[in-house]
Order: sequence, then structure tokens, then C-alpha cells
Amino acid sequence: MSDKPALTVLLASPRGFCAGVDRAIQIVEQALVRYGAPVYVRHEIVHNKHVVDSLRAKGAVFVDELDEIPAPLPGQESAHVIFSAHGVAKSVVAAAEDRGLAALDATCPLVSKVHSEASRHHFQGREVLLIGHAGHPEVEGTMGQVPPGAMTLIESVADAEAVQPRDPANVAYATQTTLSVDDTAEIIAVLTRRFPAIKGPGKADICYATTNRQQAVKAIAERCEAILVVGAPNSSNSKRLVELAAQLGCKVSVLVQTAAEIPWEKLQGVRSLGVTAGASAPEILVQDVIRALQTHFDVSLEEVSVTREDVIFSLPKALAS
Ligand code: SF4
Repeated sequence: MSDKPALTVLLASPRGFCAGVDRAIQIVEQALVRYGAPVYVRHEIVHNKHVVDSLRAKGAVFVDELDEIPAPLPGQESAHVIFSAHGVAKSVVAAAEDRGLAALDATCPLVSKVHSEASRHHFQGREVLLIGHAGHPEVEGTMGQVPPGAMTLIESVADAEAVQPRDPANVAYATQTTLSVDDTAEIIAVLTRRFPAIKGPGKADICYATTNRQQAVKAIAERCEAILVVGAPNSSNSKRLVELAAQLGCKVSVLVQTAAEIPWEKLQGVRSLGVTAGASAPEILVQDVIRALQTHFDVSLEEVSVTREDVIFSLPKALAS
């Protein structure tokens, strides 16, 4: 008999990497193979320090802005720059061209779809209301698909109640892909009530991976006293999983970047623990967490799956062959 306390660990599935993150990482790896180091990446390719550090070790150079990348001298080959999975504003694409950089776009195709929708609505004369979080790179990229001032950010139900479009009969909405499904539905309900003619994607642009990870947390939360979400503090979809578990009654709902951040004192007396991971967290970090739990507890592990994911996004043409 083990002298460690018993702990049932419910492992949510799906969890961790989504197809967009997987593709973005492959783009950096393939670019390094094809063009050699350095390959520049504007911003974190995905929101995960482990991923960023391992790509940096292979020769990727992460920059905040394009002017940190040396412009090619006459006769020199262009430096390669990769745009992150969150997408970029049109002005960033234009600035890369002006600087003579060879750009590879790792924007998730599901984010690109939102860009296209927003541009189409703008082109057709509608004011676009973007539901999302200020300051997130995906929101900056989506707002940058239209001229400044042509899109309004809606962060909350209160914003949806207060917004005053120029022509209420001629508005559209789009959403960030990594929001809370439930909170976003409430905001869309307010917009639809206030502007019955509003155009939109149907429900929301929240992607399959965000939706499935939230569903998986819902499936385990009522059986868990506590939950650990493996993810980064700047990962929107990871933070939504932490909030969701707390809303569903988990007494402890904590984001951990690695096993080293497990708050052991909060797990004292806990007998059932959920574990999941945001879409940019690699499985190796989840397995580290499980191993660390096994050193403190007599763990019974149960995987709870709500669906299987088989989404794969192809690489850009320049890297595909
Ligand atoms: Fe694409 Fe969704 Fe993954 Fe973001 S979370 S990269 S939108 S699949």
C-alpha cells in the first residue's frame, strides 16, 4: 500500500496543441531546414515559452518588430521572416515588403478566415464590431485588416449594450477565435437584439480547438475539486479554461506553465484533480505535470474524451514540397 494520499486525475481530451499551432511550429522548423539559420519570427510564434525556447535553440530569432531584422544589402539574399499563428495587420505585411524581407505567413487558417470576413464586411460598407480582448495579437491583426477606426472592439456585454454604430442597420460582427463560447454567445445575443440586421458568421468565429477544449473541461469539472491548466499567462484560450473551471465550481483552478509551478499547498486534501492544456502547450509539459503529481500522490489516471480531432492544415506552398 502506498503511504501517499490517493488522487484521481481526470485528464481532459482534447487538450494541448491544435492544428494551427502545429502548423506554425512546422513552418518555423521547415524554414530553418530550407533556408538555414537565422530565420526571424515576429513575436512568439505561439504563446508558449517551451516552444519558443526550443525553436530559438534551432536558430529562430524572435523579434518584436520588423526593424530589428537587418534589411538585405545590395546583392544579398532577403532575410526570412515568419508571422505568428495569431496573424498580423495588413500594415505589417506591407512593412515587410518595403524592407525587402521574404515573409512566410504562419497565421492559422481559421484566423485568416476571420480576416477575410472582416475585410468583406468592410468592403461591403458595414461597420464591423469585433468581439475580443484588447491588446491580444490576434485582435490587433484582425483590426488591422481594415483602415484605422473602421472596426470597433467589443470586450463585454456592457460594451455591446453601449456601442453606437454610425448606421445601426449596416453592421457586422466577427470574433476572436479563442474566446469563451458561453460569454461570447451572451455578447452576440445583445448585439443581435440591438441590431436585428447585423451580419455575422452564424454563432461565432471561435475555433474548433477552443470549443473542444472548453467542452472537455465541462466534462470533467463537476467531478473535480481542482484543476490545473497547462498554458502560458498570455494564452487567451488557456486563460478561458481556467475561468471556465472556476465558474463550474472547481475550488482551485490554476494556470501552470510547467510542473515547477504546481501550487502544492492548494492541492492539500484534494482527492480529484482535472488536468488539461491550452492549444499552444505541448503534451510533454502535461506529462511532466502528471509525473510530478505521481511523486506527491498515489495517482489513478482517467482520460475523459469528448471528441476526436483530426484537423490538419497544410503548409504554405513555399514550404510544402
Ligand atoms: Fe487556429 Fe484555433 Fe489553434 Fe488559434 S487555437 S491556432 S485559431 S486552431
